[in-house]
Amino acid sequence: MAETVSVLLPIPADRPYTYAVPEGMTVAPGDHVQVPLGPRQVAAVVWDVDGDKVDAKKLREITTRFDCPPLSADMRRFVEWIAHYTLSPPGMVLRMVLRAPGGLEPPAPTIGYRWAGGEPDRMTDARRRVLELARDGSAWSKSGLAHAAGASASVVGGLIKLGVLEEVALPHQPLVPPPDPAHAGADLTADQQTAAEAVCKRVQGGFSVTLLDGVTGSGKTEVYFEAVAEALKKGRQVLILLPEIALTAAFLDRFEDRFGARPGEWHSDVAPRKREQLWRQVATGEVRVVAGARSALFLPFADLGLAVVDEEHDSAYKQEDRVFYHARDMAVVRGQIGDFPVVLSSATPSVESLVNAQRGRYHHLRLENRFGGAALPDIHTIDLRSSPPPRGGFISPILSKAVERTLEGGGQSLLFLNRRGYAPLTLCRVCGHRFQCPNCTTWLVEHRFRGQLQCHHCGYSEAAPQACPHCGTFDHLAACGPGVERLGEEAVDLFPDARILVLSSDLMGGVKRLRLELEAIAKGECDIVIGTQLVAKGHNFPLMRCVGVIDADLGLANGDPRAAERTFQLLSQVTGRAGRSGGESTGYLQTYQPGHPVIDAIAKGDREAFYEREIANRESAGLPPFGRLASLIVSAASKREAEEHARKLRQAANPPQDITVLGPAEAPIFMLRERYRYRLLVHAALKAKLQDWLGHWLAGGPKVRGSVRVQVDIDPQSFL
Ligand code: ADP
Ligand code: ZN
Repeated sequence: MAETVSVLLPIPADRPYTYAVPEGMTVAPGDHVQVPLGPRQVAAVVWDVDGDKVDAKKLREITTRFDCPPLSADMRRFVEWIAHYTLSPPGMVLRMVLRAPGGLEPPAPTIGYRWAGGEPDRMTDARRRVLELARDGSAWSKSGLAHAAGASASVVGGLIKLGVLEEVALPHQPLVPPPDPAHAGADLTADQQTAAEAVCKRVQGGFSVTLLDGVTGSGKTEVYFEAVAEALKKGRQVLILLPEIALTAAFLDRFEDRFGARPGEWHSDVAPRKREQLWRQVATGEVRVVAGARSALFLPFADLGLAVVDEEHDSAYKQEDRVFYHARDMAVVRGQIGDFPVVLSSATPSVESLVNAQRGRYHHLRLENRFGGAALPDIHTIDLRSSPPPRGGFISPILSKAVERTLEGGGQSLLFLNRRGYAPLTLCRVCGHRFQCPNCTTWLVEHRFRGQLQCHHCGYSEAAPQACPHCGTFDHLAACGPGVERLGEEAVDLFPDARILVLSSDLMGGVKRLRLELEAIAKGECDIVIGTQLVAKGHNFPLMRCVGVIDADLGLANGDPRAAERTFQLLSQVTGRAGRSGGESTGYLQTYQPGHPVIDAIAKGDREAFYEREIANRESAGLPPFGRLASLIVSAASKREAEEHARKLRQAANPPQDITVLGPAEAPIFMLRERYRYRLLVHAALKAKLQDWLGHWLAGGPKVRGSVRVQVDIDPQSFL
């Protein structure tokens, strides 16, 4: 009988599979291996829970064991924990860990050349120049040596052939040099110092969560850098999660100023080769600090000792694809499993984190003041009912005067509108036809600059038509409502001499270009920025004095349970772009409902009023964090299939007393990518065994057949 082990494969199976260990190979749990699966070979991990029993005749052998540090027991528990929590197959969670397969093999050594002693029989000038350099005994790359000697590569090649130069393996170069915790310690203010000491004390202990809660520009980053330094001094690795890492080049520079080296960078815009190197060097422990997007949580750290989640309230931390997880919550779980501290940082904490802090589950550190005595902006509401914009426009006279004054004073203004493109809806003025996406129940958004109508949900696009496809009338198509492009047009009319920049994710040139534009703004190379939420997050624009929110009500309109919280956070962040480096600054909120509690709290700068009310509302409705939600989307290619499955599923539900099932109802986006969608919402008391019951219900419910798919989202953030 061959020795067998269980192996978890990155596939949607609910258990590991069993494989035979070939003679002469030894494997232990956590080892990275390659195994046959049908006709394929896949990278997988030796697991320590039992796999499926396999008939001896069908048993297949492990192909290879990779020369790679094993996946730690903590990481294996983490994978299982997330699988159970999100109701995903563990293999699909493991798939997120095995994102850089090239990192499983040690890198091929880089070859260099050095003098082997001796001289060629025939000496030329070029050969002499090469040897003069090589004689110092150091190793050179072939091209480097040729270049330095002013000789051609074939001269160097000739000397290698003659054996005058010999091959040596160059020492392995780490991807990033190690950060130095003592490189340039900050001169902290008294408040910052108190907070830094408290958080550094946490780093000395095991698992804990600290909510670092301070207004924009108060120095939260400086404070958590001290925690990072402390963890580094203890010899531990550090993970810093950032919501928009691709755009926050400034963060990497700041880190380098403090620690003398850049952190390892992990996000989708990093080149595949670099990602593979980073993955491996995180596993070997060569990379000490990683700054990354949410998926960095799944990097195979050798010895993670601190996780920081910056802008912890940001919805970019929620993944809504395959495995639906929230990286902030999972970072806390990772800390619990690994027994290390977690720091959550925000100027506008999530209601969940704040409640945890109030109840004493999290340590609460407050920073009440901006650094350097900079004041928070003065906030005014502009009631659009009494001060409407001129006909056809979207900027009210009060706001345009404020921008004018800011221009005269040499400051920058930001006009914020969370709508890409030119107009969110196009209709025919003659027959009323509205342009809808053929694959989704959504309106097509006009992008005038590109001459297209686009669906922002499925990516469908068509050339902007001249005539109505319904009645055939030419030149009577009307753009309804504003997008940033349209706002840009209005700003050019209003402020013809200003340097105006429209910024959204549609900008040609992608992330690189965006980074350049953000830098240009910081340097003061433009006067008026018109942008979507992309410009709202985390950036430091020293000259920004005036922020105008074009439609403060926008996020309040959709009635989902998080609308108020999300709007409060976004408006605080956006207005918080102003006045970061001192001087007077102002924020304006254009609204039709100045009395709305969210708008009112922002206008008065009374965040406690907002949180108090929101927490009370949640508590009385039993909504998170006072109860739990799970959302199920049943979708299918035909309406009948989807509806039938959703109905049968509902009928099969027999929830215990502390769980309620609502629906099915048509989802707000009823058709998405040609699939019809029904939503069931599950509401559970805090103590209910939600996952166990859901698993039970789904397993005992109608068979998922044909084109039907059921998607489970625990703790949903989006309700579309
Ligand atoms: P937050 O993360 O709370 O928004 P930051 O840490 O980004 O705040 O600080 C805001 C600005 O103030 C940054 O430009 C930062 O360099 C500067 N700053 C904050 N604290 C200090 C300090 N103690 N010494 C020097 N500069 C500081
Ligand atoms: Zn679409």
